[in-house]
Amino acid sequence: MSRKPKVAIIGGGVGGLAAALALHRLGMEFEVYEQASHINEIGAGLNLSPNALKAFRMLGFENEAIEAGWQDEYQCTRSWRTAFPISRQPRKLTSDIYGAQYLTLHRADLQSLLLERLPETHVHTGKACVDAGTNGKTAYARFTDGSSVDADIVIGADGIHSAVRDALYGKQPPHFTGCICWRGLVPVEAVANIPYVKDLAAWWGPHGHVVHYRVRRGELVNFVAHYDSDAWTEESWTTECTKDELIGTFARWNDALLQLFDQSERYYKWALYDRDPLPQWSKRQVSLLGDSAHPMLPYLGQGAASAVEDACILARVLDDSEGNIEAKLQRYEALRKPRTTRMQLVSRERAKENHLTSPAARLMRDAKVAFRSRFGSDKSIFKAGWVYEYDPATTPIG
Ligand SMILES: Cc1cc2nc3c(=O)[nH]c(=O)nc-3n(C[C@H](O)[C@H](O)[C@H](O)COP(=O)(O)OP(=O)(O)OC[C@H]3O[C@@H](n4cnc5c(N)ncnc54)[C@H](O)[C@@H]3O)c2cc1C
Repeated sequence: MSRKPKVAIIGGGVGGLAAALALHRLGMEFEVYEQASHINEIGAGLNLSPNALKAFRMLGFENEAIEAGWQDEYQCTRSWRTAFPISRQPRKLTSDIYGAQYLTLHRADLQSLLLERLPETHVHTGKACVDAGTNGKTAYARFTDGSSVDADIVIGADGIHSAVRDALYGKQPPHFTGCICWRGLVPVEAVANIPYVKDLAAWWGPHGHVVHYRVRRGELVNFVAHYDSDAWTEESWTTECTKDELIGTFARWNDALLQLFDQSERYYKWALYDRDPLPQWSKRQVSLLGDSAHPMLPYLGQGAASAVEDACILARVLDDSEGNIEAKLQRYEALRKPRTTRMQLVSRERAKENHLTSPAARLMRDAKVAFRSRFGSDKSIFKAGWVYEYDPATTPIG
């Protein structure tokens, strides 16, 4: 095929919209089909490391993302009860080494930055996909309203519960990790007199950890509190809950955190599920991207970043004149899968480290991280240099 392929993207989340923008910038035809009746404002903070910012650079909105988000001066880990700073590193160090900033951004702001760069008529809402595949030389997707579309390629960017993935490989049940997360957003003025919580930090304690950082030009503090529990198992991002259960769970933690939790207007909770890496993502003229391909636990902070990287590499591969569509999708998968599989597995390992219960094991971990942050050669503290150094615009795709 010499003409550029026409791509149907299922899902208008961060990954789907990033894929649309990457294709659009390279002059390819695309249509996005999103199940929601409008592109969602739900969600809260995303932690975006230098590799994500390099992807934004390729997509042409790095500076606008920096304006919309927030960059903390330091990245800090604290002990759950005493607030003792286990590690404290200037974030600028990470940006100097890896060539882009480290940013925290509201998920809705990232979606808006992507959406406003796309021709509106190519984003279709109220379209819930139920099936996808390849018929002859054409890929297709079918929707719950009985309609269907044909394209050269269908990309399933439909998130952790992907219908496209199910259509390709059958339903695969996720494993509950035994961890529950709560999140909230607090106006920064409301925490003016609370110590520690205005700045980015991760607090580590027995059975749990809490992360907070600012988003939306620093106007809001986003917090996510994780705790081991089998008491509840709903996976949705949108389930609201009461303040009391959050405060009750963290009652023995530092008072600054409890004061922070107290200030949110709304509280959401979700159960963390994990899925094993898929053996493959692409079947004929259909492939997957983002959480549908490689859902990962949040401990490496790479869910959104890896989806945007996928989008950049997919567009570069499809823009390349070498190979037919099936070969290109195989190449895209081969370029992306080793990296995202490693992210999935490292995130899983981190989960164990973050929630250690034995005081001796926690002391050893804290001493190791404290030493590494002061004297280690990998200035990312968490040995994530391999994550941050990646640039999807320049990584070889041949
Ligand atoms: C509502 C919501 C809130 C979130 N909040 C946070 C947060 O606060 N912090 C955080 O770190 N991460 C959050 N995430 C996850 C984070 O956005 C993703 O992990 C990451 O950005 C990867 O993006 P993705 O596009 O692959 O998946 P997602 O962002 O999950 O996007 C998938 C999109 O596909 C759509 N979709 C699903 N099924 C179908 C279907 N059958 N047909 C058509 N469309 C479909 C969904 O409505 C969604 O818009 C949230 C995700 C969602 C959906």
